[in-house]
Amino acid sequence: MNTEFKSFAAMMTALPTDAACREYLEMKRWNGVPVCPHCGVADANHYKLNVKGEFKGMYKCKACKERFTVTLGTMFEGSPISLRKWFIATYIFSAHKKGISSHQLARDLDVTQKTAWFMLHRLRLAFSDTDNSLLGGEGVIVEADTTLVGGKAKNMHTKKRMDTFNPKRGGSGLGNKTVVAAYVERSGRVRMDVVEKHEVETVQLKENVDTASVLMTDSANNYKKVGKEFAFHGVVDHEKEEYVRGHIHTNTVEGVFSLFDRMVMGIYHFVSPKHMQAYCNESAFRYNSRKVTDKMRFDMALVKTGGVKLEYNTLIAK
Ligand SMILES: [Zn+2]
Repeated sequence: MNTEFKSFAAMMTALPTDAACREYLEMKRWNGVPVCPHCGVADANHYKLNVKGEFKGMYKCKACKERFTVTLGTMFEGSPISLRKWFIATYIFSAHKKGISSHQLARDLDVTQKTAWFMLHRLRLAFSDTDNSLLGGEGVIVEADTTLVGGKAKNMHTKKRMDTFNPKRGGSGLGNKTVVAAYVERSGRVRMDVVEKHEVETVQLKENVDTASVLMTDSANNYKKVGKEFAFHGVVDHEKEEYVRGHIHTNTVEGVFSLFDRMVMGIYHFVSPKHMQAYCNESAFRYNSRKVTDKMRFDMALVKTGGVKLEYNTLIAK
């Protein structure tokens, strides 16, 4: 099996059947030695069970006697969609820098739009960063900003934006708009976090960014107090048409938001507040893995376990 394919076409040739995809997944996940997900025992001699005279990936654990397949715990678990269609979807999702709509994926895979929509939600979980460590640190510059997503308010001036979602300043609520905060290490990692109505952005800032960092923000009032807790707080005053003063600017985080806008507006058109965090995670993952090849991103997502087996009922619940 050629496992070093570097393009979508090469993957289609290297993995022509569901069985080939399964073997590839077994190799990536187990490195040739099946690991029982029930008891954790790795054994090259776990029993292989045939279904209708053919081995289709069902193992029986030698230790605990439970049955398992390689898809258990991955985003493919329990899905009626063939593994090869999943692989195609995963590669496409990995390669399209701005994401892909459920309508387009449905056409590409020859599945219903509803199925494609569901697959994309699982893919989005598999393409999320699981690193929750603080960003920044001593001597590291971190830019922070918020934006409103949905509706025309995304183009609003910062102060207006703040007023819109600050009830103390007369903000009347958000409608279907969502406040998204982004924290970016210059030339490093980004994290995007939805600011829920009951949450406070400055608290979230400290939950995500090490206060030993050098913080850069615009002149929004809510950063003034918290800024004093950081090693240094650089402020650019957009209201005075000031955008760059030496090292003091927020151009990196503006760039992150502009990529995010292009993804949400250009590909998905509308994202409901309920699913916004998943799209934030997707956008952050794409940014953070920007120096990684499509194939590496593909491999990373395939073997991702833990919370990626999203149930349809969970997804559509109010
Ligand atoms: Zn076992």
